[in-house]
Amino acid sequence: MAEINPFESLQEQIDDAAAYLDVAPDVIDRLKRPERTLSATLSVEMDGGDVEQFPAYRVQFNGDRGPYKGGIRYHPNVSEDEVTALAGWMVYKCAVVDIPYGGAKGGIAFDPREYSASEVERITRAFATELRPIIGEDRDIPAPDVNTGQREMNWIKDTYETLERTTEPGAVTGKAPSSGGSAGRVEATGRSTMLTAREAFDYLGRGIEDATVAVQGYGNAGSVAAELLDDVEATVVAVSDSQGGIYDADGLDTSAVKAHKRETGSVVGYPDAGRELSNEDLLTLDVDLLVPAALENAVDADIARDVQADVIVEAANGPLTPDADDVLTERDVYVFPDILANAGGVTVSYFEWVQNRQRFAWTEQRVNDELERIVTDAFDRLVDAYEAHDVPNVRTAAYVVAIERVADAADDRGVWP
Ligand code: GLU
Repeated sequence: MAEINPFESLQEQIDDAAAYLDVAPDVIDRLKRPERTLSATLSVEMDGGDVEQFPAYRVQFNGDRGPYKGGIRYHPNVSEDEVTALAGWMVYKCAVVDIPYGGAKGGIAFDPREYSASEVERITRAFATELRPIIGEDRDIPAPDVNTGQREMNWIKDTYETLERTTEPGAVTGKAPSSGGSAGRVEATGRSTMLTAREAFDYLGRGIEDATVAVQGYGNAGSVAAELLDDVEATVVAVSDSQGGIYDADGLDTSAVKAHKRETGSVVGYPDAGRELSNEDLLTLDVDLLVPAALENAVDADIARDVQADVIVEAANGPLTPDADDVLTERDVYVFPDILANAGGVTVSYFEWVQNRQRFAWTEQRVNDELERIVTDAFDRLVDAYEAHDVPNVRTAAYVVAIERVADAADDRGVWP
């Protein structure tokens, strides 16, 4: 597959939407580039006494609507361009669900599975030390992303608070509940994917309960989306991870598959599957709904030509290349974009931040109810824009709504000095 630079994909998505908007070209230009980038090399002592170097980035893409917000990923493919694209997607994601944040992203280029827990802790604390001057509950608020979770967020919070000599739990979200994390945060990304899928099928005059589903990626977003789609009576027939996929025409027991993955590290080898299949087979299965929940660029134009699902709901960030998007639009496949369908994570991060600032914890029911309201309202706003602007697809409608909100905030602020 040709290397697609996700930062160029982001810029193309903005240009596509700008064509439908009356926003000055200099404003659009600004919205296509990050405000600032921290690029660091972390020197960290390994368990054996050697010192290793790790490239690390934090990109603050745009802060017109509020403090910068976005996760931190640990992955060998992390690069400045990837983190920049992901930071930009955060800006537009927060704008789509209308929460008062700008967008940021961070990453460290390494594979955490090859390091011990104490090494990962030292790497995380080294990064947190670099981040300390630029983060904070009113500046920039990190969160989990690929291969990071509560454990890493707790370390970042502790490093930040220790160095700052304060308590400021709202400086980081996605923490464990015992460290100020929110109920419902772990499930939130997958929950927004399920809610988007449910609304999408309803919008198209079909019922989610009659849908067959394939989920690519069985990490935090994909596994929870699969379980919640199962709960609303959809039939999840195939799931996969980086090792491969499994298929059962009668539907998989999504929770049992998750338990198998927790035990063995992969969905592959799950004993009750009908058969195994490759990731590419999964993406082109004859299902009603495809949920890409892994990494960027999972579906390129070639795969897009063979996709048989008629609805795609993106749980991952940037899983379709721009060329794939064009092919799917032409083939009348409905794509409900990442900046809506996985926005539950950052939305419940927002709730966590609100709770931290108020020093008052909400119940899980309240979290889930507020999340449902925000995602369904955003969905309605996007389909209104899709119909009103005569745009080619729902993604472009999402960018139209989001760019308008960011551009309005930029305009209100003006340029200073
Ligand atoms: N990493 C998640 C995302 O891509 C969550 C970000 C957050 O909670 O700030 O949306």
